[in-house]
Formats: sequence, C-alpha cells, structure tokens
Amino acid sequence: MPVATEISKPFWNNLNQGKLTIQQCNQCDGWVFFPRRHCSHCMAHDLEWKEVSGEGTLYSYTLTRVPTMSEFADEMPQALAVVELAQGVRVNTTLTGLDEDEIKIGMAVKPVFHQVDAKGNTLLRFTGVDKPLDKIAYQNPLDALPRNDKGQVQVSIDNSAALKALANDEFTDWSNTITVDQTLIDAFAELSGDNYWIHTDPVKAKKESPFGTTIAHGSLVQVLQSRLQFALPYEITGFGTMVNYGSDRLRFPAPVPAGSEIQARAKVKSVIQNRKGVQLTLEVHIHVVGNERPSVINDLVILYS
Ligand SMILES: [Zn+2]
Repeated sequence: MPVATEISKPFWNNLNQGKLTIQQCNQCDGWVFFPRRHCSHCMAHDLEWKEVSGEGTLYSYTLTRVPTMSEFADEMPQALAVVELAQGVRVNTTLTGLDEDEIKIGMAVKPVFHQVDAKGNTLLRFTGVDKPLDKIAYQNPLDALPRNDKGQVQVSIDNSAALKALANDEFTDWSNTITVDQTLIDAFAELSGDNYWIHTDPVKAKKESPFGTTIAHGSLVQVLQSRLQFALPYEITGFGTMVNYGSDRLRFPAPVPAGSEIQARAKVKSVIQNRKGVQLTLEVHIHVVGNERPSVINDLVILYS
C-alpha cells in the first residue's frame, strides 16, 4: 500500500473520496504529477490541487504473468500501464476490467476507484472509456468464510488474502483481570533473582520510590499475559506447527504498583508470508485497570508453518 507523505496526502485523501486530483501551477498553468512541492515546469512553489476527470489515453503497458510480489498473485496477468491524462501528465497504474486483446496503446481510458480495504483506502486504476466500471467496492475476504462455535472466523493457512485482512486497528475486548500483589512480586523476585528493593521492599519504596510503593517487574507483567484471556476474532486452520517466535517490540511504558489489577487486549498488527511460513504479529497491551497508558506493549510474533 502507498504511504502518503505530507506532499502526496491530498492526492490519496481525494482518491478515497472518489476524486482524482492533480496539481496545477498558479504561475505557468503547467500540470504536475507526481505530487511535488514545486512546479516541474517553472520551479515556482505555487501549486494548487485541482480535480480532473481522469480521462486520458493508454501511453504504454506490459502484462506480467509471474507475480512481481506475492500480493499480486490473484491478479494474473497483471496489466501494468502508463496512462497519459488529458492534461499531459503520465500516471503509473494498472488496468482493470479489460481482456488482453482489448488493450491497445492509444486507447481512450478512464479512472476506476478501487477501494482495497475496510478503512476506505483507494487505488487509482484505469479501464476502457466505454466500460461501465467506475469503482470497485471493497470486499472483505473474511466475510465469506465459515465461523467456529465460538464465533471466530476460520482462516486457512493457505488463504493469503484472508490472512492479510486479519490485520486491523481494532483491539479485542478486554480480558479477565488479575491482581498483582506483593506475594506474586516476591515470588517472581525469588524465581528470577531480581530482588531490587523497588520491587520487594515496601517500607523503603514508600519513602524513596517515585511511585510511593513497590512496583511489579516489567517482565513479570509481561509473562502474566498467559493468565489474561482475550478472545481473538479468528482461528487459523490447516497449519502443521505454531511457535512463539519472539517479540518485535517489548516496552514497559507505565508502572504496575503492587496491588494493582491488570487486564489485557490485543490486535493483529501484521501478517507476513515468507519461506518460513506465516508470521502473525499480535500487538498485546497490558494495562492497569482504568489506566489509559499501557504497562506492557508486546509485539508478539507467532509463526505458523
Ligand atoms: Zn509553473
């Protein structure tokens, strides 16, 4: 997916609204694409976003029959194209809704607004000007899948589109809560050998610690995740083994004072397929109940193969 920059953001935002906008120079009237800070004709820093119809002609194209990336495997053959808009600028794009033998250099084309995710992100594609196609709505690949008796959507390890669709910004509901009391902290100090007073000496901590009491070890709170059950909205099926591959990021942004109740929630941060298998990163947040700032952020990597 494209990453919008400060300069290109209007282009992508407008595309999400079904509008194609390109920049025009207020000094020389020249049209500019790709998005820039200055005019590519006269160098003036005086560009303005203008909506255009997007009609143009096919300047060049090629058909790829081997996916250039695994993401495009379901789009074969992929028609990579350069379209020249009526304003004279050229846009790198892909063609859609056309049979191979319909594609001709110089043909008249028009834009197709292709929504590619639930957030409304839209890519600009083109088709023949006579085609009844203006936009492609987003279809969540998870919608068509069966659910188990817990209501979790069942995603096969082979279904790469559905696996990718699992990643989103929505957290699960909160887990059960548990209390992190001094007995638990002392037991962990004993186990780990980390008996620093800030964790184990309530009298000294009351006087000298900035928290006014003892606090739990960050690594204790991290491992307590196993006791915090949050309901994931999916079940991965059809894999051989599942292993905890480690953590991409582990942070302890806020303390857990002794006696606190904690709870957890999670969201799928990313799903990557590589030679090792499917690598799912689950971003787990553990909070003191009522505290907006998490006490643990753990990007847990789970490898299915
Ligand atoms: Zn100019």
